[in-house]
Amino acid sequence: MKEVVVLGGGFAGLRACRLLAKSKLDINITLVNNNDYHYDATALHTVSAGTSAPEQITMKIENCISPKVNFIKDTVTNIDHDNKVVSLENNGQIKFDYLFNALGFESETFGTPGADQYGLQIWNMKSGIQNIQKIEDNLKEYRKSKDKSYLSFAVIGGGFTGIELLGEIAYQLPKWAKECDCDTNDFTITCIAPSCIPMFDKKLVDFALDYLHSKGVKFIIDKDAKAKEITADGVYYGEDNKFVPAKTTFWTTGVKGNDIIKEAGYDQKRNRVVVNDTMALDTYPDEYLIGDVSAVMDKENNRPYPTTGQISIQEASIAVANLKARLNNTKKVPFSYKSLGTVCSLGPTMGIAELPLGKKTMKLKGHKVALLKHLVRMNTAFEIAGAKSAIQN
Ligand SMILES: Cc1cc2nc3c(=O)[nH]c(=O)nc-3n(C[C@H](O)[C@H](O)[C@H](O)COP(=O)(O)OP(=O)(O)OC[C@H]3O[C@@H](n4cnc5c(N)ncnc54)[C@H](O)[C@@H]3O)c2cc1C
Repeated sequence: MKEVVVLGGGFAGLRACRLLAKSKLDINITLVNNNDYHYDATALHTVSAGTSAPEQITMKIENCISPKVNFIKDTVTNIDHDNKVVSLENNGQIKFDYLFNALGFESETFGTPGADQYGLQIWNMKSGIQNIQKIEDNLKEYRKSKDKSYLSFAVIGGGFTGIELLGEIAYQLPKWAKECDCDTNDFTITCIAPSCIPMFDKKLVDFALDYLHSKGVKFIIDKDAKAKEITADGVYYGEDNKFVPAKTTFWTTGVKGNDIIKEAGYDQKRNRVVVNDTMALDTYPDEYLIGDVSAVMDKENNRPYPTTGQISIQEASIAVANLKARLNNTKKVPFSYKSLGTVCSLGPTMGIAELPLGKKTMKLKGHKVALLKHLVRMNTAFEIAGAKSAIQN
């Protein structure tokens, strides 16, 4: 019996476990994850802003996997490719015949001074809980001192995460104002970014920015608006070091793959490894890299596809199909990306979306998109953990 080890219980790892367990291959499957729960990373910004409690976006790993999968709760510390061994923090080493590396993403600060110390980042459950704690601490300080600087927020970055986060913060303002016995206008929320959600159609972007602006968000969008330094009191940005005061600063400018990728000696760029179209490595063909640690090249522009949950799930499916093809001596199944569309929430009740409709793109905005986002999350839960989890989620 071959030993198949899956590292990481995110979208890619759980999808791989689900398909491996259903595969009828003569394999022993082991999943290693550093928590005994899975968190929906696409909803971490809601925990950060306090619109979701942590338990609303988490599922127990044991409820997500088949009884055929052995689960080890532990932290991966290294991978020995030549001896095909994974080192764990508490449980020694485990050997593998085939590895599915799905260790996911971390936040990227590009060495910006103060970003690690003062920038709130969104990349795992711990960070989400720390973020809402920081907001609550600042609200408490305001209640004590009535110093309005404690009501100042900055969001660095106008990508998906930054815009979705702004939607949640704006949604919370009336509640926070009530708790602090002040007006929503006493809060300042500033987004600083060179551009905002450029992947969307301009009319949808305008709708999103107008909506957030109407809720009190100020935008500084300029190609020069790059954060230079974060301090406890605000953000310096641009060539001439302009300053935006903020006691709560979120850093949402980008992600990289898990640091283990570099430490384990993979040939990587920002902790992402280029895989072939079976999701395996040419250098270590018994290792499949899936999800945010992998880089699948888009042949049309010779750049890697962006890191998304949607792609992570597709990659996991292709990797398992290719292990099956290898073990059953059938034809390989090359990766080909199918876009299911993009949905960006603007708080719990509003959003914008672009969905493929044949050769056209359907553009949506408004409250209905919030419902769509919920359906997408349910569908994702189904794909990684089955029907029961989808209903509970
Ligand atoms: C705020 C936000 C919103 C997003 N919205 C969308 C969206 O709308 N649509 C979309 O498609 N994508 C979205 N994304 C991107 C998406 O979340 C990621 O692409 C996706 O989570 C990647 O899945 P993954 O399985 O590769 O990694 P992850 O989800 O990062 O999972 C990795 C797993 O590995 C575990 N792990 C990490 N290190 C170790 C270790 N050393 N040892 C053991 N276990 C470890 C982690 O605990 C985690 O369970 C969003 C991301 C963010 C942050």
